[in-house]
Amino acid sequence: MKKTEYIFANGISDTELTPMLSQAADTLRRGGLVVFPTETVYGLGANALDPSASASIYAAKGRPSDNPLIIHIAHPSDAERYTEVTPLFNRLAERFMPGPLTVVLPAKSIIPKTVTAGLSTVAVRCPQNPIARRLIALAGVPIAAPSANLSGSPSPTCFQHVCDDMNGRVDVIIDGGECEIGLESTIVALSENGEATLLRPGRITPGELREVLPELKISSAVTEALKEGETVLSPGMKYRHYAPIAPVVLLKSEEKARQKYISEQSGKIAVLSYSEYADEYRDMPCSVDVYDLGPSCEPDVQAHRLFYLLREIDKVGYDRIFAPLPSKDGVELALYNRMIRAAAYTVIEINK
Ligand code: AMP
Ligand code: MG
Repeated sequence: MKKTEYIFANGISDTELTPMLSQAADTLRRGGLVVFPTETVYGLGANALDPSASASIYAAKGRPSDNPLIIHIAHPSDAERYTEVTPLFNRLAERFMPGPLTVVLPAKSIIPKTVTAGLSTVAVRCPQNPIARRLIALAGVPIAAPSANLSGSPSPTCFQHVCDDMNGRVDVIIDGGECEIGLESTIVALSENGEATLLRPGRITPGELREVLPELKISSAVTEALKEGETVLSPGMKYRHYAPIAPVVLLKSEEKARQKYISEQSGKIAVLSYSEYADEYRDMPCSVDVYDLGPSCEPDVQAHRLFYLLREIDKVGYDRIFAPLPSKDGVELALYNRMIRAAAYTVIEINK
């Protein structure tokens, strides 16, 4: 077990913060593990140019060794040191970086195989969160960082949830408050022949991407389970993911029919409800615990809350968690993608 140190960076002045981040940057350069906030979720960082440091990320998370890591850079222009950048990358970078977008490109040989899990490509992201950007710039090396959760669990979006998983497994945890977005970055793969494929949806939607990439394809793994023997473009997509301990069941139906169905269930039940219906669940004769996912017309709020709520629900302990099946439009595609995996593809369609 490591002795984890904490940096409370939330809301303090730049002059107080700089020496603290310099110390964390030193830890990274020496091969240590530092958890830091980003605008999407918390990241578990190591020096991406150091094979043994990046290998220690897999051990700390219990992550399968064939699931590659995203490297985080301080400026979009740094990408050319580590990847073969293409004109499409430059256009994406101009529009969306810094921000919640990851781009997969052919890797240069400076990137160790422990980062790419043996692939010839590497995923690059330039985060917008000021603490993340300053930490990366101070480290002077790219930072390999997957989400800072134990493998399979929902990604942490606040300091307490990071500590729940990573205390004693990492050298430093930086508290940067709540992550603004709450779901992981959008991932786009760019191939050498100019094809662009969405591998993981996020806050940046297919519609926004198509303004720059009109020919963008969407990988079938975004919405569907992998078929037996199918090769996956993004290895992370083949694992049970984002899952709380209690089984999640997604209900595809009108709201009234969903309420009727839930009212007929037994056991200790948690319901993720849109805000406008939360009181109706609270008033049900059978007792269910209600967790407010946010207004049905505000998917950004739902994205911000989803992983936070799944982890809080696990702390109480339930037999089952019921939630509405999101649509596949805009930001809701990212919610659909995460929730369908959290539910291990369990969807019940209720016809009135
Ligand atoms: P996370 O662990 O939450 O940071 O997720 C990282 C995601 O990026 C996983 O789904 C990985 O499979 C994906 N990824 C990282 N590198 C690559 C790559 N070179 N090609 C395709 N997907 C990648
Ligand atoms: Mg993850």
